[in-house]
Amino acid sequence: MLDPALLRPGRFDRRIIVDMPDIRGREGILKVHTRKIPLADDVDLSVTARGTPGMSGADLANMVNEAALLAARHNRDKVTMAEVEEAKDRIFLGPEKKSKLIKEESRRMTAYHEAGHAVVGSKLKYSDTLHKVTIIPRGRAGGVTFFLPEDDRDEVSKEWCLDTITLSLGGRVAEQLVLNRMGNGARADIAGLSKLVRKMITQWGMSEKLGPISFGEREEQIFLGREIHQRQDYSEQTAQEIDEEVQRIVSECYDRAKQILEEDMDALHAVASALLDRETLNREEMDLLLEGKELPPLKRKAAGDEEKADTVADKEPDTETRPDFPGKPQPFPRPDTP
Ligand code: ZN
Repeated sequence: MLDPALLRPGRFDRRIIVDMPDIRGREGILKVHTRKIPLADDVDLSVTARGTPGMSGADLANMVNEAALLAARHNRDKVTMAEVEEAKDRIFLGPEKKSKLIKEESRRMTAYHEAGHAVVGSKLKYSDTLHKVTIIPRGRAGGVTFFLPEDDRDEVSKEWCLDTITLSLGGRVAEQLVLNRMGNGARADIAGLSKLVRKMITQWGMSEKLGPISFGEREEQIFLGREIHQRQDYSEQTAQEIDEEVQRIVSECYDRAKQILEEDMDALHAVASALLDRETLNREEMDLLLEGKELPPLKRKAAGDEEKADTVADKEPDTETRPDFPGKPQPFPRPDTP
């Protein structure tokens, strides 16, 4: 990332773009950084590698440090998967805001919002697989539903795009269906899907109506990852057609999300109330709820199930052993004896 002034013609004769590490690369990087750190048996670095797309080597090193510090703070002599997961979430989203007092009403709204994503996502064929859903606020996010891609994706299909838009709308649709309210919690979902649908139409030629044509010539500047300039190389009429296509696709996806949730309101209520109860649900718990089964009581967790044990502990924050760090995660000095 260099200032455009430095990249004026004639200054550099070759430009090499170093991509972020792929899934195997990340697993390898994690292995290197965890070499001197005692890991519990439940730590599966391939799962972590799968859940960290877009992270650089430095991010992964930072995450491993953070996990080691968390383990030390939890008085553990080994780093468990729970710490690795929490460290990952901290890097992605900032630390959990456990101290933040959340009004019951907004907690309910978040629970239905995230349950909406989770239920819609689980019924779609081409979307990414559900990993975890939580209503513990972090950073600016009130709650998060994580989906993991099966592999590193360089290529996306139209089906994946449509399913992704549909599941992004699941949160908003659930809020409206159950609480008859619209909240600004869908801000990030809406920003993301708007960008995706425009790319589908104007760059990837995925609209039957407009055809395989690229609209809007881009002069991309790799400066803070921003697109600085876009020249309109199409007519006003095409601009209007693009807008209409955007609206058509989004409204079709909205209707699909609505239909999925209306057909399975029981699942939506079950997931939302389980979230209000436990704050975080993993994949297995989600599957049970979607099959209409009861979740096992919290106390009777299997011994190896550290992640959920940790989540239960979250309900009674212990300021002694689990202090909250305000602000963004900072790079920590690496502890020699974590
Ligand atoms: Zn959402």
